[in-house]
Amino acid sequence: MAVTHSLGFPRIGAGRELKRAVEACWAGRTGPAELAQTGRELRERHWMIQSGSGIDLVPVGDFAWYDQMLNMTALLGAAPRRFGFQADALSLDQYFQLARGNAEQPAMEMTKWFDTNYHYIVPEFDRETGFGPGTEWLFDEVEEAKALRLNPKPVLIGPLTYLHLGKERQAGFSRLELLPRLLPAYAAILRRLHASGVHWVQMDEPILGMDLPPEWLEAFAPAYAALAEAGPKLLLATYFASVAEHAVWLKSSAVAGLHIDAVRAPEQVAGFVKDFPADKVLSLGLIDGRNVWRTDLRRALEQAESAGAVLGERLWLAPSCSLLHVPQDLSLETSLNPEIKDWLAFAVQKLEELAVIDKGLRLGRQAVAAELAERDRLLQTRAQSPLIRDPGVKRRLEGLSDADFRRHSPFAERSPLQRERLRLPPFPTTTIGSFPQTPKIRAARAAHRRGELNGDAYRDAMQAAIREAVNRQESLGLDLLVHGEAERNDMVEYFGERLAGYAFTKHGWVQSYGSRCVKPPIIYGDVARPEPMTVEWIGYAQSLTKKPVKGMLTGPVTMLQWSFARDDQPRAVTALQIALAIRDEVADLEAAGVAAIQIDEPAFREGLPLKAADRADYLDWAVKAFRLASCGVADDTQIHTHMCYSEFGDILPAIAELDADVITIETCRSAMDLLEAFGAFGYPNDIGPGVYDIHSPRVPAGAEIRALLEKAAAAVDPERLWVNPDCGLKTRQWPEAEQALANMVEAARAMRRAESPAGSAA
Ligand code: GLN
Ligand code: ZN
Repeated sequence: MAVTHSLGFPRIGAGRELKRAVEACWAGRTGPAELAQTGRELRERHWMIQSGSGIDLVPVGDFAWYDQMLNMTALLGAAPRRFGFQADALSLDQYFQLARGNAEQPAMEMTKWFDTNYHYIVPEFDRETGFGPGTEWLFDEVEEAKALRLNPKPVLIGPLTYLHLGKERQAGFSRLELLPRLLPAYAAILRRLHASGVHWVQMDEPILGMDLPPEWLEAFAPAYAALAEAGPKLLLATYFASVAEHAVWLKSSAVAGLHIDAVRAPEQVAGFVKDFPADKVLSLGLIDGRNVWRTDLRRALEQAESAGAVLGERLWLAPSCSLLHVPQDLSLETSLNPEIKDWLAFAVQKLEELAVIDKGLRLGRQAVAAELAERDRLLQTRAQSPLIRDPGVKRRLEGLSDADFRRHSPFAERSPLQRERLRLPPFPTTTIGSFPQTPKIRAARAAHRRGELNGDAYRDAMQAAIREAVNRQESLGLDLLVHGEAERNDMVEYFGERLAGYAFTKHGWVQSYGSRCVKPPIIYGDVARPEPMTVEWIGYAQSLTKKPVKGMLTGPVTMLQWSFARDDQPRAVTALQIALAIRDEVADLEAAGVAAIQIDEPAFREGLPLKAADRADYLDWAVKAFRLASCGVADDTQIHTHMCYSEFGDILPAIAELDADVITIETCRSAMDLLEAFGAFGYPNDIGPGVYDIHSPRVPAGAEIRALLEKAAAAVDPERLWVNPDCGLKTRQWPEAEQALANMVEAARAMRRAESPAGSAA
């Protein structure tokens, strides 16, 4: 009899109830009591769904008002001292201040959770960081679950993952030094849970899937030996990657159970099952918690059976990771193509799948024969469906040659031709693409979506927004203009809606950070572009001005990374298909006379595999996809790309291989430090380091921008420098954006005057 459990459930609510409740509370429309009530209701509902589908151990502590890492910080009494809060009496309001900042203190930093699009709040550490009693929330939630007669399994971020994902706020100190102080705080939490009748506690240690320095790895066994004495049995959970290389010491560690990801890394299972200790359980993650496709039940049952044959009662069954990363319930989708809907499973459906595997394992295959046969039929229908196949796309991919991935001439030869054609001054100024999305623009888009604004009226509204954007850029004196992206709700959704092979949900929300959710599109079939997607808008913008207007596209890697990708072909193939579609758009823009085309890749870094050994392969196909999308143009057409994050160090060679003529990057918050890396590496093409932090309403002064540009000009050849903001301006307001851009143009002019004292260029 295998125990079934889930590592975590989506917390936001099928109707995004938590988002609404939290935001109402922030806006002062409701009070903390109402918010607390919504939280209780959601937890209860989610536990009942899980136990109703046969889950034996329900997760407690996967709920969070904002983020599970921040909850851990609150539980450990480790709120940064700079806020001046009393850690053992942290209020909900103070908790939100940690996440969002207040008048005196900037918010705690936020960053991506492993290779997902979920963001966590980064713990802050220094030598004095203390851990002690914190919030009571987890203990209260355990009582709530018990009152519902459920069997709660609290979920904690394990101490090493908690420390590792945090950051030192002090030089000359390693956060690992805090472990001796941290462990007693964990032990105290575990003892309290034990006293309240908890048998099992899940300790998430996903950092074991990364390459860890030896001192971190060596810390695991003694840490868990100490924690194992606190009372509850510990289930050490890993996910997102193989931990095969740690099998030997994990099996002999002091924990009572291990969870491993059998979806991302099925090959690791055998090594764990072999010689698995008699006194531990092995939990296999058999259902994909990262994607939305129905499970091959027969295969999953086979995996369970072969492990079960050796482990017997010691085998547990679960999804591969927390279900936080998939939408909650497919049954809400009433307008999806029914054939495609049949292929999908969201969190609720995944737990139903788990129940079938459990039943098959307990009672034998006969007992689930109907479910297995039905699933076989469904998977076969999907594999043979004409919906997923476009023979034309396949033929095009097969017909590609090396030349399709290469520009005609090297950058050194292209660059003068582009300069000649574009006739831009030194230190050319440009922006990243989007301009403020005013209420008027959003209202027009929404009305069009609802069918209340017809095609012509909608076009008029968008053209008015484009006119306004172009006029403002001309008065500001910017050099390379953009159309402003008024017609785009989202940089992936806009293109996905115009490409074959993409499906969209109505309620498929996934938490991205705090109360923010995204609705990733689903790539179910071969991707193709039936007709031009942007040419009309860019062409209209160009018709309004003599200055060049930049075409604006989302790149193939980002289109893939921010969608649920099909699981029946390698991601590399899907990326190349998207690249072909983008290539077609690039060709049409070029044919329409557009001289500069930007292909955004903000998710390029995020796709990087957790393990160094897998990175070369990813970078190889990701670079190929970008090159396929961008290399079809003539030498005098200028290709731009844009990326916005600061961890470039380990991927600079791949960035250079993209061979974009210009890359614009986020550098402002790191005060150009990043640019030194580009300089030291000898990055060969043009660079536009961001000189205006668009994440803040603050307007940078001209002198401040000028200082950044001076710093940039010292790090890379000034001839190859562009002047631009960090990222798009769609979340800003016009007045502040306009002032900041005016200061930016002024700083660029000052640089020109300084470079050519005759003043001719300004
Ligand atoms: N062109 C996009 C914009 O300006 C880029 C967005 C991004 O990098 N995330 O909004
Ligand atoms: Zn950006």
